[in-house]
Amino acid sequence: MPSGTICQRCGVPVPSTGDLMVVSVLGFSLRPYHAACYAREQQRAGHHFLTRGTPINHGWGNFTAWASGLVGAVGGGLLLGLGSVAEGVLILLVGAWQPVLRLLSYLWYERPLLRG
Ligand SMILES: [Zn+2]
Repeated sequence: MPSGTICQRCGVPVPSTGDLMVVSVLGFSLRPYHAACYAREQQRAGHHFLTRGTPINHGWGNFTAWASGLVGAVGGGLLLGLGSVAEGVLILLVGAWQPVLRLLSYLWYERPLLRG
């Protein structure tokens, strides 16, 4: 588990959640940045969307985490109810992935900043 919230670009601690961008790269690794450092990373990465990463702790990232969890729960629940156990479990796990990343972002990077 990472200690503190250190920007992955400049190595300086991020002072507040307002300046924090937690980025998910290809839906797996989480990287914290200052908002300005993330903007510079995006400029450097250009059109290579696969390496640019997606912010998950602001508007759109929060929405996709909730929507993914909801779709996974409803879709997986329906499939399980219809007797398709393997497909239902698969949809539940896929749907839970984004909410789990969002939760890890909160626990690892955002909560320490909220404590001060
Ligand atoms: Zn930085």
